[in-house]
Amino acid sequence: MSTTETPTAKERMAIERAAMPEQPAEERVRNFNEVNLGLVEEVAVREAQRCLQCKNRPCVQGCPVGLRIPEFLEKIAARDFAAAAEILQADNALPATTGRVCPQEEQCERLCVRGKRGEPVAIGWLERFVADWMAEHATAPASKADPSGFRVAVVGSGPGGLTAAGELALRGHEVTIFEALHDAGGVLRYGIPEFRLPKRIIDREVANLEALGVALETNVVVGRTLTIGQIREQFDACFIANGAGLPRFCNIPGENLKGVYSANEYLTRVNLMGAYRYESRTPVARGTTTVVFGGGNTAMDSVRTARRLGSERAIIAYRRGREEMPARAEEVKHAQEEGIEFMFLVSPTELLGDEDGWLRAARLQRMELGEPDASGRRRPVPVDGSEFELPCQVAVAAIGTKANPLLTGTAPNLQLNKWGNIETNERHQTSLPDVFAGGDIVRGGATVILAMGDGKAAAREIDDFLREGASA
Ligand code: FAD
Ligand code: SF4
Ligand code: SF4
Repeated sequence: MSTTETPTAKERMAIERAAMPEQPAEERVRNFNEVNLGLVEEVAVREAQRCLQCKNRPCVQGCPVGLRIPEFLEKIAARDFAAAAEILQADNALPATTGRVCPQEEQCERLCVRGKRGEPVAIGWLERFVADWMAEHATAPASKADPSGFRVAVVGSGPGGLTAAGELALRGHEVTIFEALHDAGGVLRYGIPEFRLPKRIIDREVANLEALGVALETNVVVGRTLTIGQIREQFDACFIANGAGLPRFCNIPGENLKGVYSANEYLTRVNLMGAYRYESRTPVARGTTTVVFGGGNTAMDSVRTARRLGSERAIIAYRRGREEMPARAEEVKHAQEEGIEFMFLVSPTELLGDEDGWLRAARLQRMELGEPDASGRRRPVPVDGSEFELPCQVAVAAIGTKANPLLTGTAPNLQLNKWGNIETNERHQTSLPDVFAGGDIVRGGATVILAMGDGKAAAREIDDFLREGASA
C-alpha cells in the first residue's frame, strides 16, 4: 500500500507507530539543538493513516482544549495539510509548542484506542508536523472582528497570557501585555531549554500576536512598576497569568554556597541570558559533577542542561522511586540515553562548602517508602544512619515553585487561597469583577496546555463581560 491510497481498516491496523528521528545522544550532549527532529511528510501521512476515526472520539476527551483530533488526522492522511492546519489553528493557539511539550502520553494519546492493543497514534508528533508545515507555508490569517473600543490588559506573557491576548485581539479588543522580563514567552522562554523547544518557535508565536495588533510592554513588573489598581483605571478588563515562578528550596544548611541554584535561576541563566555561551555576561557555574534534587520535568531539564554544560556526572537525586517520578516518560528516556545518572530514594540533608565558599559535596540520606500521603504517593521516610557524601561542584533544587506574592500582595481585594494562588469562579473571574485569571497562578504548577485552555476560556468570558456591560 502506498501513502497515496486510502487504507482499509485492516491495513490501518497493520501500520506500526512511526519512530521520531532524533539527534544521536553522543552528539546532542555537546550542543543545545533540538533533540527530536520531526517527522517527514511520508511518515506523517502514514502515521495519520493509523487513526481509526472512532465515532466516540475518546482522544478528544483527553485533550484539555478539545482539539478535533480525528478530523485533523483525517486531513493529514489525505495530504491536505492546509485543511489540517486550519483545524489546528482554530482550536490551539500554540500548536508548535504543545506538539513538542504536551504530556501527550497522559492526555490525548492515553485515551487513543490504538493504545489498547499496541501503540497509540502519535497525535503530538503529528500536531508538531502540521505546525511546522504551517511555518513554512503561508496559511490564511485568522479573521479579526471589527474594533470593539474596549481595552484589555494581560499580565504575563507565558502560554496563558499569549493565548488570551490572541483570542481577545481576534475579538476586536485592544490588548496590551505587561511582562516583567525583557522577553516574552514565560516558562516557554526561560524554563524549557532550547533542546526541547527552540526559541524561534516562541519568536514566531509572539510575532503572530504582534501582527494581530497586540502591544507587548516588557520590563514591567506588575505590583511594582504598575499596580493592579492602576491597570483597572486604565483598562476595561484585565487577565492575570503571571505564573507561579517563586522557587521552593530544600531548607537545608549550605543552600547559600556558590554553585547552588534553584532550577528557575539555573535555567533562566542558561535559557534567557545565554549562559551556555562563554562570552555571555551572565555566567553559570559549571562542574565535573552536578546533582539535581527532584524528579519532575524541571529536574530533567536542569540535569540535561548540566550535561550539555560539560558535567561528566550529571545526577538526578530523587527522594522517591522511579515509578513515582512525575517527569514525562520521553524526558526520562532521553536523559538515560544522554548518560544521566539516577539515584532513587535519597534526599539531601546538607550542602558542604570549601574555604572559598564554593560547594564541594552534598550530604544525602537514604529513604524508604512508607504509607501514601495526601498526593496518593507513598511517603519517603528517612533511614537512620544512612547518610553519605556525594562530591559535587554544582547543585540545583528542582523541587517545585509557588505563587509569587509581588503582584497579589499589592492588590488587597484580590482573593487568594491558602497557598497564595488567585481564586476564580467558573468564569475565570476573580473577586474583582473586571479582573480574570488563569494558568499556574490559579492552578499552582500545571501544564502549558492547561494554561492555554484557561487563556482561551477566560478571553471568551472577558468578551462576554465587556459586551454584557456595554448592553446593560
Ligand atoms: P508562565 O509560563 O509562568 O508565565 C508567566 C509570565 O508572567 C512570565 O513570563 C513571568 O515573567 C511573568 N510575570 C510574573 N510575574 C509578573 C509580574 N508581577 N508582572 C508582569 N509579569 C509577570 N508543562 C508542560 O506542559 N510540558 C512540559 O514539558 C513542561 N516543562 C516544564 C519545564 C520547566 C523547567 C518548568 C518550570 C515548567 C514546565 N512545564 C511544562 C509547566 C508549564 O511551563 C507551565 O505550567 C506554564 O508555562 C504555565 O503558564 P502560565 O502562562 O500560567 O505562566
Ligand atoms: Fe494532545 Fe496536547 Fe495536542 Fe491536545 S494539545 S491534542 S493534549 S498534544
Ligand atoms: Fe484516532 Fe485514536 Fe482518536 Fe480513535 S482514539 S479517533 S484511533 S486518534
